Amino acid sequence: MTFKVIIVGGGPVGLYMAYAFERANIDYVILEQQDTVLNISGQLLFTWPQKVRLFDQIGLLADLEKVALGIHHKKRLFGDNGQVTTTGNFWDAMQNKSVL
Ligand SMILES: Cc1cc2nc3c(=O)[nH]c(=O)nc-3n(C[C@H](O)[C@H](O)[C@H](O)COP(=O)(O)OP(=O)(O)OC[C@H]3O[C@@H](n4cnc5c(N)ncnc54)[C@H](O)[C@@H]3O)c2cc1C
Repeated sequence: MTFKVIIVGGGPVGLYMAYAFERANIDYVILEQQDTVLNISGQLLFTWPQKVRLFDQIGLLADLEKVALGIHHKKRLFGDNGQVTTTGNFWDAMQNKSVL
C-alpha cells in the first residue's frame, strides 16, 4: 500500500517530521501557509534533553554537537540598563540528572 503523509505547517516540528519521513523513504508533502519557513523571530535554537534524543534518532546529533553550546547558567535581564532580575543554575542541575 502506498500513501502520502500530509504535514500541515513548516515550523520546527513539521520540518523535523519531513526529515524523518525523507530518511524513512515515506512520501510526504508540507503545507505551509506562509511564504517562507524562515521566520526569524527567536534568538537561538534551544533544545531540551528530550529533543536532543529525537535529533539523535534521525542522525543529526553529531552535526548539531559541532555547532551547539551548552547552557549552564540563566540570567534574566530587564530594561535598558540590563538589570539582572533572576539567575539560576537549573541547567547544570539538569545536565547532572540527564539520562541521555
Ligand atoms: C516570540 C517567540 C520567541 C521564541 N524564541 C525561541 C527561541 O529563541 N528559541 C527556541 O528554541 N524557541 C523559541 N520559541 C519557541 C518556538 O518558536 C516554538 O517552540 C516552535 O516554533 C514550535 O514549533 P512548531 O513546529 O510546533 O510550531 P510553529 O513554529 O508555530 O510552526 C507551525 C507552522 O504551521 C503553520 N500553519 C499553522 N496553521 C496552518 C494551516 N492551517 N495551514 C498551513 N500552515 C499552517 C504556521 O505558519 C507555522 O509555520 C519562541 C516562540 C515565540 C512565540
